[in-house]
Amino acid sequence: MSRRYPELADKVAIVTGAGQGIGRAIALAAAREGMRVTVNDINPTTAAATGEAIQAMDGQAHVHVGDVSQEADVARMVEETVARWGRVDLLVNNAGIEPVASILEMSPELWDQVMAVNLRSVFLCTQAAARVMRTQGSGVIVNISSIAGKAIPLPFRSAYAASKAGIVGFTKEAARELAAYGIRVNAVCPGVIVTPMTAKARQDPAMMEKWMREIPLRRLGEPEEVAALVLFLASDDAKYITGQAYHVDGGKVMV
Ligand code: NAP
Repeated sequence: MSRRYPELADKVAIVTGAGQGIGRAIALAAAREGMRVTVNDINPTTAAATGEAIQAMDGQAHVHVGDVSQEADVARMVEETVARWGRVDLLVNNAGIEPVASILEMSPELWDQVMAVNLRSVFLCTQAAARVMRTQGSGVIVNISSIAGKAIPLPFRSAYAASKAGIVGFTKEAARELAAYGIRVNAVCPGVIVTPMTAKARQDPAMMEKWMREIPLRRLGEPEEVAALVLFLASDDAKYITGQAYHVDGGKVMV
């Protein structure tokens, strides 16, 4: 198995929402680099499947089933990781939801749910992991935002766009605050990626045609292409990079 970043071997990663899509690709890419990976997801079936895929490649996985918007679940996720492997070197805040609702019709409960799963979770997981990283004097956090956090998203995603913009703001503040402990914090803003989250929209020919017009590279992204950027940011090649939010979107948004 060829490793791009030998310095990551045996380091410990936590990836949230790693049962499918981008999170699964990140967890597998981390395992390919020899990292030991806590695979979090709210869905026990998909979480177990990612854990099995890592073990099938002779990697080490710990499956954690939990809701990252809940403080007790997050505390357990980090405690189990430290109890098993003694440290946390990389946290990837990936779990997210993208409900479709107009501002005129959306319930406050749905707004709160999106904020809890997409943004509160990033705070909770960062706090719990950074407390461990502080004692180590090192660590990397990568937050998965979206181009929707920086540019005009699909319609009827106001809560999603607000939560993803919030991640970019939180990332910068966390980078500034946690640098004193040797912790780097960056965000990744994917464009349209082929995952279950975009499955419905991808079946709409008008939407596909619009995307092909808007994306200079004329194709959608693969989860592995997001994972590649996350692993770069985790590596020593990125050791002077913190507080940034990088697009991986085929050129869809240029700012
Ligand atoms: P996905 O296919 O829907 O996968 C997300 C995973 O997170 C699912 O396994 C989901 O489980 C899990 N999850 C949801 N709520 C959770 C919670 N409270 N606690 C723990 N796990 C939870 O999404 P994806 O496309 O891979 O997206 C991953 C991240 O990238 C998200 O933050 C998303 O906003 C962001 N992103 C995606 C795209 C894209 O085009 N795909 C673009 C920009 C940004 P269940 O399915 O069982 O709920």
